[in-house]
Amino acid sequence: MTAVEPPLALLAELTHRCPLRCPYCSNPLELSRASAELDTESWKRVLGEAAVLGVLQVHFSGGEPLVRRDLADLVRHAAEIGLYGNLITSGISLDAGRLAALVEAGLEHVQLSFQDAEMVSGDRIAGLAGAQEAKRRAARLVREAGLPLTVNAVVHRQNLDGLGEMIELAVALGADRLEVAHVQYYGWALRNRAALLPSRDQLDAATVAVEAARARLAGVLVIDYVLPDYYAHRPKACMGGWGRRFLNVTPAGKVLPCHAAETLPALDFPTVAEASLSDIWYRSSAFERFRGTDWMPEPCRSCDRREIDWGGCRCQAFALTGDAARTDPACTLSPDRELLVGARKDADETAPGFVYRQHSAAPGRSPQLVSLME
Ligand code: SF4
Ligand code: SF4
Repeated sequence: MTAVEPPLALLAELTHRCPLRCPYCSNPLELSRASAELDTESWKRVLGEAAVLGVLQVHFSGGEPLVRRDLADLVRHAAEIGLYGNLITSGISLDAGRLAALVEAGLEHVQLSFQDAEMVSGDRIAGLAGAQEAKRRAARLVREAGLPLTVNAVVHRQNLDGLGEMIELAVALGADRLEVAHVQYYGWALRNRAALLPSRDQLDAATVAVEAARARLAGVLVIDYVLPDYYAHRPKACMGGWGRRFLNVTPAGKVLPCHAAETLPALDFPTVAEASLSDIWYRSSAFERFRGTDWMPEPCRSCDRREIDWGGCRCQAFALTGDAARTDPACTLSPDRELLVGARKDADETAPGFVYRQHSAAPGRSPQLVSLME
């Protein structure tokens, strides 16, 4: 058994509140209410424990972290204790004053999500009229403030054909990096899988577009792009392996090895009120459960990739097979591979409409976050 290293990064999910309603949202089906969120002092304590544990970066995320009025306080605290602060945001309510406060507090990087390059489609996927215009405005502000900008693009059947335009948009916005992520099918995204899963032809065209853009934009834009699990032969090392690189704290203080792990029913994830991050990282049964290779079934147990991909994603294994301890069906060696291959037939049928989650901000309503701040 290899020694457990400290985590590199903390995903601080400050809230589940969000003005958008993306049909692939990876937040849990049961969202935390605002009244259940950790308060400012608790978050500061968590950040301090993370720094002591060895964490180097904190990603302030959600939901939409801008709905937290104490965001600049938390960014400042992170900077003061030596954590690199990154904001992952939809950008909807970012204005010049708010950004200036965050920069002054020590924010070092912004990741801004875009649902599509094109206005009408972007607003439709986000589930909010005016979202795309607000995002472009936010991107301009970030660049004017001199912060490095990463554009996050979650791609799927209904926007993958526009990936070339998304790349051009990232360049036009002055982004340093474009992270193209295929939808992961658990949580709310699993409900919308038939509407979101791309076809093989779409995927091949997108791969060609990315390779051409990478050559053309070398030194201008870094493009992160990997094949989606449903079309891959081998899984990715999800989060760098369970309990190896990352930890995630939910709005209510639950500590998880990845943001989707709450979908796994049989694991008892401790909260920051019950134990320190260090105790949870090194000693909790939930983090031990799928760490390393001892838990692995065949064919992983005797496979020479077992310490490369760590058996793939536990949440995907559970979503497809009902058992988180199975080999990820994204692997062609998995005995459950047919479950994933069968789902690909959806991509050849007519796409159904999106099933949107009912948040308090409905499409067409003002993107002001007043109701979300309550
Ligand atoms: S921006 Fe979209 S994916 Fe992110 S939390 Fe909001 S609804 Fe979910
Ligand atoms: S059998 Fe397991 S360890 Fe081997 S490639 Fe497949 S998922 Fe990875």
